Amino acid sequence: MNDLLPSEVARWHAMEETIREVVRLHGYREIRVPVIEHTPLYVRSVGEGTDIVDKEMYSFTFHDEPMTVRPEGTAGVVRAYVEHAVHTKEPVSRFYYEGPMFRGERPARGRYRQFHQAGCEVFGDPGPVVDAEMIDMIVALFARLGIKDVEVLVNSLGGKGTKAKYREKLVEYLTPEKDALSEDSKRRLSTNPLRILDSKDPRDQAAIKDAPSVLDVIDDDDRAHFDGLRRHLDKLQTPYTVEPRLVRGLDYYSRTLFEIRGRGGELGAQNTLAGGGRYDGLVEELGGPATPAIGFAAGLERLLLATELPAKKLEADVLIAPMGERAAGEALVIARELRAAGVPVVVEGRGGSLKSMLRRANSLGSAKAIVIGDGELDRGVVQLKDLAGHSQKDVPRAEIVLAVKS
Ligand code: ATP
Ligand code: MG
Repeated sequence: MNDLLPSEVARWHAMEETIREVVRLHGYREIRVPVIEHTPLYVRSVGEGTDIVDKEMYSFTFHDEPMTVRPEGTAGVVRAYVEHAVHTKEPVSRFYYEGPMFRGERPARGRYRQFHQAGCEVFGDPGPVVDAEMIDMIVALFARLGIKDVEVLVNSLGGKGTKAKYREKLVEYLTPEKDALSEDSKRRLSTNPLRILDSKDPRDQAAIKDAPSVLDVIDDDDRAHFDGLRRHLDKLQTPYTVEPRLVRGLDYYSRTLFEIRGRGGELGAQNTLAGGGRYDGLVEELGGPATPAIGFAAGLERLLLATELPAKKLEADVLIAPMGERAAGEALVIARELRAAGVPVVVEGRGGSLKSMLRRANSLGSAKAIVIGDGELDRGVVQLKDLAGHSQKDVPRAEIVLAVKS
């Protein structure tokens, strides 16, 4: 879990502003849900046999109730959608969220125990138009953040029918290889065989290398949906690769699945920037009406590793340097006037030499400094210094705001 000091937070603000702007242009509105939910919500939605539920959740019991600090955003958003019967108010909902998520994983570059995600969910639209639009939005967002070298992987898991058929086929294929699988995957073969495809263990990777693909057994309806998605992406000229072994780590996905990876930069092995997919069964599973839905989440720490957003240093446009007690009082009043006019100001309250105060102005990134001493007070003026232009002039007390802003 990381501390973010103010110089770092400035980069976060720049990134978050861009994200908000892009999702707003696509009709999404922000939803805010609690960071703690009842544990069974995650067990039912993310699914048993997943790394998240089996090993990574920060769970605790509070007054006999099992609770979990959220490992991901979708489950809580779906719970809220159902709890507030949002479907009765609007046929299609486009929600955006952002915030910290918690997973007890082994930390590495780009992998933390408290990390942040921004995500979108669309309820009530079966796609594939919206599926293509969502993928295109993410690529556009990344480009706006300066991340242009990305790889889009898409797959379809099919619906219930296809998934069941594929599971059978996969178990049939992997059972003779059982001894070669990791301990976790030996277990998963009976509990959750699709998870094996998502395993990072080299033993599993070798075993699944030539495993059958979902696309071999996909139903006609699911195939048509997937072909539709591909046609729309082609029309948008959004480059993508079909990756038939892409399953992603959450149980609730159906049909469209996608992942966006960054290349190069400081990402290293953790190069998945965003992942998502369709989860047409989850709203119903969690007690709502049958509602098609799709969503994605992007990891913000990884986006920052992949961008070159500059660390903005600016803390105050103006520093006021009062020379002495009487000038300090006046400085506070002037600062208040400037702030009312929208100018960020810091008063150097520690006194000291003019030279040291101007050094401070430099370190704050200020463009201007206002110097006030007893002489200026008596004459009803201040000294306004343009720090970049190395010039200075006297400004009448009543004209300070105007002079600073011009
Ligand atoms: P990975 O395969 O990298 O573990 P995941 O499949 O667990 O990712 P999701 O649960 O789909 O990822 O989360 C979406 C995104 O959130 C990831 O692509 C990544 O950018 C980010 N993310 C996931 N886990 C972490 C983490 N522990 N630290 C930082 N970012 C993370
Ligand atoms: Mg993970």
